[in-house]
Amino acid sequence: MSTFVNRQILLTSRPAAEARADNFTLVEAPVPVLTDGQVLVRNHYLSLDPYMRGRMNDSKSYAQPQPLNAVMQGGTVGEIVDSKNGQFQPGDKVVGMGGWQEYAVVDATQRGVLRKVDTAKIPLPAYLGAVGMPGVTAWYGLVKLINPKAGETVVVSAASGAVGGAVGQLAKVRGARVVGIAGGPDKCRQVVEELGFDACVDYKAFAGLKELSAALKAACPKGIDGYFENVGGVILDAVMQNANAFSRIALCGMISGYDGAPIPMAAPQLLLVNRMKLEGFIVSEHMEVWPDALGELGTLVATGQLKYRETIAEGLASAPEAFIGLLKGRNFGKQLVKLV
Ligand code: NDP
Repeated sequence: MSTFVNRQILLTSRPAAEARADNFTLVEAPVPVLTDGQVLVRNHYLSLDPYMRGRMNDSKSYAQPQPLNAVMQGGTVGEIVDSKNGQFQPGDKVVGMGGWQEYAVVDATQRGVLRKVDTAKIPLPAYLGAVGMPGVTAWYGLVKLINPKAGETVVVSAASGAVGGAVGQLAKVRGARVVGIAGGPDKCRQVVEELGFDACVDYKAFAGLKELSAALKAACPKGIDGYFENVGGVILDAVMQNANAFSRIALCGMISGYDGAPIPMAAPQLLLVNRMKLEGFIVSEHMEVWPDALGELGTLVATGQLKYRETIAEGLASAPEAFIGLLKGRNFGKQLVKLV
């Protein structure tokens, strides 16, 4: 064992309903000495993502539950500080799954566990957002499932977020009219003024389905051809009421139900009436698109054509509260934790 200490956050209990900061425990552990093939990564930023809420439960899902009393798993960017692997040198910047800890020992002989990244034109934390998993998620759902034609109307919920912001801008590049749905006037203003959406509907400003649906209708005078779904519930119902014949829904997330509340759908018959196509997807099951997606996203970010915002919590100990804030919409853009 080496002498220097690694601070880590473990999941130590599972939430009954809402996730709480006391589901996590901060511990210290020695950094093990590297064996052949391994590298030591100093994590610079942790990615906080809504999917982590599902993994805190012990229930059956598309992802394995996060084991109890183990380091909370998650995406990270950082720098190689020690290496017993010829493919990686100290100083290399990498993206991987380093988890909620200051240092990660990684067996870099496994293909794909660590990816070297170039920070000359793209800042390191962007590899956790617009040029990382959330960006590819946006790309897959929009390009492969919605596939908008120029002039069509595309709507996206959680529009100011890491995924939603990229969806709208990729749709604009393809000539679509783009309407966001987000919580509050500040987020809606940013979506239009900074990200370049054509309009944004503040779902918190409307009392119920009827009012929200009317607001969406005003923002989408030609109806909705593509919907990128991140939320579920009344927002989905309002979109369905404005959907055009042969419209497509990319079902990416349903964050309104991640604490276990049921998410009823008011009028599923509209899928039939409008001959709609609805497809759920998990981005990690479509590794074949990652090179094309990252290629386009990287070029757009490096040339300043794809804008994004980050909310950065400082220090490892801030991760649990920042994660809970993400689930409650307190983040504005990609939620990160800065360690270095
Ligand atoms: P965001 O940065 O968008 O943050 C989450 C946002 O969701 C919050 O800021 C909040 O925005 C909104 N939100 C939270 N609770 C509610 C609610 N009850 N009703 C309405 N909006 C709510 O996160 P990401 O961009 O990382 O993720 C967006 C979605 O994409 C999530 O559903 C996530 O699970 C999904 N996802 C799916 C993947 C896949 O492979 N299928 C991969 C990655 C992400 P606001 O203030 O506007 O309400």
